[in-house]
Amino acid sequence: MEIIDRGDAVCIAGAGPAGLVMARALQHNGIEWDQFDPNPDVGGLWDIKHEGTAIYESAHFISSRSLSGFADFPMPDHFADYPKHTEILKYLHDFAEAYGLREKITFSTKIEKLTKTKDDRWQVQLSNGECREYKAVVCATGSQWQANMPALKLI
Ligand SMILES: Cc1cc2nc3c(=O)[nH]c(=O)nc-3n(C[C@H](O)[C@H](O)[C@H](O)COP(=O)(O)OP(=O)(O)OC[C@H]3O[C@@H](n4cnc5c(N)ncnc54)[C@H](O)[C@@H]3O)c2cc1C
Repeated sequence: MEIIDRGDAVCIAGAGPAGLVMARALQHNGIEWDQFDPNPDVGGLWDIKHEGTAIYESAHFISSRSLSGFADFPMPDHFADYPKHTEILKYLHDFAEAYGLREKITFSTKIEKLTKTKDDRWQVQLSNGECREYKAVVCATGSQWQANMPALKLI
């Protein structure tokens, strides 16, 4: 199989809040990157249309607007003090737009497998059949997509 060598570029898995802010940090520091997400747009779990998200219609932030924004991109004053999920999604879309982050994201494409090579690089197998090699991989794949139900004993 052909392996596309991406040199010193970094690979980011996920285009939710963590993947987006990572992309912005790499951009700010002049580091090349590629980004992948199985969903058709940015936002991670904050897009209620993304299959399997834990977000529900009445969901809103429980951390405040003034303390939850990215360092160089505060949430707008007209947002609710504890914004609704639709406002958080709008904020994430605006952040991606402001810094041109969408251009680097391959949507509807999942990272299927990561393999470390003998020379400490990473081979990334994508769901579109491509295999690419990177200097580093950032896993920003979220941790709230699988429900964890404790087994409670009735006493
Ligand atoms: C109901 C609810 C309320 C919350 N309230 C708050 C709050 O008030 N304040 C707060 O700060 N946080 C809150 N959170 C926490 C939430 O996890 C964060 O806000 C934020 O969404 C985490 O961002 P993330 O990018 O790490 O993960 P996610 O938003 O989960 O995004 C991960 C992305 O990675 C993608 N991905 C997964 N696997 C792969 C793969 N193999 N290859 C490529 N991409 C992949 C997914 O498709 C997804 O788009 C809440 C969460 C929930 C469920």
